[in-house]
Amino acid sequence: MSVREIQDLGLTRQREVVLRVIRDSEGHLTANEVFGVAKQLLPSISFATVYNSLRFLKEAGHIAEIRFGNGASRFDRMTSRHDHAICTKCGKLVDIEMEHPQELVNLAARIAKFKPESLEFTLRGLCPECVEKD
Ligand SMILES: [Zn+2]
Ligand SMILES: [Zn+2]
Repeated sequence: MSVREIQDLGLTRQREVVLRVIRDSEGHLTANEVFGVAKQLLPSISFATVYNSLRFLKEAGHIAEIRFGNGASRFDRMTSRHDHAICTKCGKLVDIEMEHPQELVNLAARIAKFKPESLEFTLRGLCPECVEKD
């Protein structure tokens, strides 16, 4: 999404800045991290405004919110279904775009006795930088 397209959404200046921060990032910032970057672009912005803008943008379908366990929510520029890999050492979070084998979906559904709709997958391990430092 270009700056022009973001402007065409007719958002308030604050919401526009918050959306831009998420679109321009690698895609998985916490509300605190979004606030840190947004403040550089718009020094008058408050944390409450950033937080409310995140809620608004999520409800409007412009961003997605992801939660793992009891960690802080992260905000994702990718709103279509995808999976994630998390580094257990530094917390780095990356997107994985892949199809799930139907067999795996069926197997999970059979075990749970559910009629399957979707399956989410989280890969945990060490990212390349952490493997190198190991
Ligand atoms: Zn790492
Ligand atoms: Zn993602």
